Amino acid sequence: MKLSQRLNTICEWIPGGSRLADIGSDHALLPTYAVQEGRAVFAVAGEVNRGPYNAASKQVAEAGLKNKIDVRLGDGLAAIQPGEVDVITIAGMGGALIVRILTEGKVKLAGVKRLILQPNVGEDLVRRWLLEEGWLLTAERMLEEDGKIYEVLVGDRAESAEQAQELNNRLYADTQIGEPPITLGREQLLEFGPFLVQEASSVFHEKWIGEIAKLERVAGSMGRSDSEDARGKKEALERHIQFLKEVLACLPKDKPSSN
Ligand code: SAM
Repeated sequence: MKLSQRLNTICEWIPGGSRLADIGSDHALLPTYAVQEGRAVFAVAGEVNRGPYNAASKQVAEAGLKNKIDVRLGDGLAAIQPGEVDVITIAGMGGALIVRILTEGKVKLAGVKRLILQPNVGEDLVRRWLLEEGWLLTAERMLEEDGKIYEVLVGDRAESAEQAQELNNRLYADTQIGEPPITLGREQLLEFGPFLVQEASSVFHEKWIGEIAKLERVAGSMGRSDSEDARGKKEALERHIQFLKEVLACLPKDKPSSN
């Protein structure tokens, strides 16, 4: 079975022998591959919609894996019981939806050791959720496939609340990057990704050049306004755009991506 580079990257981070839940599984490609590769010994493919649920059931039956992959209809983590799995993957949705699923299903996270999350947008929301909920962001990867740029984030459960606080304080402490050096604080590291900004791959540059262009269009469409509030918002956006440009300018540009 050939998997997209995006799903393959997620799969690589599933420790061998895991009990896996893939939420929003669509055709259940990820759990099928994970079981075939021995990364998962058992998997739940969770789906909220009937169409993808049927497609997942068909895929699992055709792969002969009905005894190892349970396809379940349910909203988010309603598809699993507490203590049933040790790894959860949620991919191909917006960051806000991923955060909603994790927040509403918090009780189901009991026993879960790793979350592998691939938001299509709103990656900062997911990093913030991990931080605020005492999870450790342990790895990030940015990759480009079929003209789209994706970020995969790995969150591991800390041994204790104290450990989470200590390691997260270190991860999100003021960090100097680039030449001439710029200091990034917690908010900026949440936005860029603390590992991704250090790596500063060519895909990273491409993503942020695209984001700057989008924000410039937004600023352009804000036009001139007599309202102090609107002027303040536009100026804040322009300052942010300027900051993003300064960050990109100080980072090395010719690093290949780790794709
Ligand atoms: N995870 C697959 C991937 O990355 O290729 C499929 C991504 S697909 C774009 C998003 C899937 O999430 C859809 O099949 C959709 O039905 C499902 N979905 C959306 N909201 C969900 C929720 N609250 N609970 C479970 N599944 C959900």
